[in-house]
Amino acid sequence: MRRSVDVVVVGAGIVGSACALELAKAGMRVAVIERDAIGSGATAAGMGHIVVMDDSEAQFALTSYSQSLWQALAPELPASVEYERTGTIWVAADDEEMAEVHRKFAFYTTRGIAVEILDAQSLAEAEPNLRRPLAGGLRVISDAVLYPPCAAGYLLEKAKREHPGVELILGQDAVGIGNGRVVLRDGTQIHSPIVINATGSSAPELTPGIAIKKRKGHLIITDRYPDFVRHQLVELGYLKSAHSSTADSVAFNVQPRKTGQLLIGSSRQYDAEDSGVDRDIVSSMIERAALYMPQIANLSALRVWSGFRAATPDKLPLIGPTEDASIFLATGHEGLGITTSLATARLLADQLLGRYSAIPRDPYLPSRVVKEPAKSPAVEISHA
Ligand SMILES: Cc1cc2nc3c(=O)[nH]c(=O)nc-3n(C[C@H](O)[C@H](O)[C@H](O)COP(=O)(O)OP(=O)(O)OC[C@H]3O[C@@H](n4cnc5c(N)ncnc54)[C@H](O)[C@@H]3O)c2cc1C
Repeated sequence: MRRSVDVVVVGAGIVGSACALELAKAGMRVAVIERDAIGSGATAAGMGHIVVMDDSEAQFALTSYSQSLWQALAPELPASVEYERTGTIWVAADDEEMAEVHRKFAFYTTRGIAVEILDAQSLAEAEPNLRRPLAGGLRVISDAVLYPPCAAGYLLEKAKREHPGVELILGQDAVGIGNGRVVLRDGTQIHSPIVINATGSSAPELTPGIAIKKRKGHLIITDRYPDFVRHQLVELGYLKSAHSSTADSVAFNVQPRKTGQLLIGSSRQYDAEDSGVDRDIVSSMIERAALYMPQIANLSALRVWSGFRAATPDKLPLIGPTEDASIFLATGHEGLGITTSLATARLLADQLLGRYSAIPRDPYLPSRVVKEPAKSPAVEISHA
């Protein structure tokens, strides 16, 4: 069977769903192919922290732009998305981390982000369950949290509801892309001048040669303990662990959900391809969390899971064209893909439609890190 559309999006995680909506808004006929359920990959495993970050100017530009797009969308998000502006507190344990609080304060204030320095006492008042004493913290007012799989579902549902040219093909995997076509496992070919590879950490399977590595992460969700935590809390030591490009690491990172539950994170591991739960890592996460919030050790955990972040060497996503003129990438978002999904979709649509972009696009172009020319395996598929 053969058919044709204007654009095929492979992968219905939060990034593919955002791309489908953005391109449908531009009047394109869009087919979305997802081998499993909508939002079932890293999107289901993620924490849903919509956070402005400052590792680099490019990371700041993408996260703050995307956060503003989430803020604009927020009034129409259904209750199931659980969007809430909790704010973030970056927790400083000692004077060295307090120096980082001051550096971040200067960075954010000069760029128009509302932040507030908390001393030890105001930190204890803001979050009574944190251990005492701690040195203080930085509150970032505009950060939010949401429930990622429902957010992805909403973006696609909106795309379909408002734009008749959107088609979802669920339960089918793409086995090859390239030269203006997508081949599905059942042999169906879809012809399209544009194919977006939004398959997260699986992206190199369809576009070999791109610099994506799997980075495993675990999360724990507890029973309901309303008001136990009020902000997304992240230790400043988190930055050291997130920056490490080799070692396994855990860091204190806790999120209050609208349901009253707590999400406890998080871990980072390279070279861990097995999706099973690693008990040692989970024990380390609980120990780390209890170091900051001793009462956490007495809460009841309901479930633990893991997922794979799609990591790039420079910690920025891959958004844009490849060697094959028909293939575009929207992947490599590591631990920030929920936050940056909307901006990714906007930048990609701007490229495809020749529009001006609100922020520079160059820092995210795949050409900066592609190790070898990306060749599609589609040409090798015998039944295609
Ligand atoms: C533990 C953890 C915590 C995180 N916390 C946060 C956070 O707080 N904030 C934040 O912004 N980000 C967070 N992230 C990162 C975020 O979850 C990811 O960056 C984001 O979900 C990536 O979305 P995606 O759509 O690119 O990929 P995915 O959600 O993985 O979607 C890819 C989709 O493609 C499908 N697919 C793959 N191959 C094929 C194929 N051949 N054919 C058809 N379909 C295919 C998959 O089934 C999947 O549904 C976290 C990640 C982890 C693991």
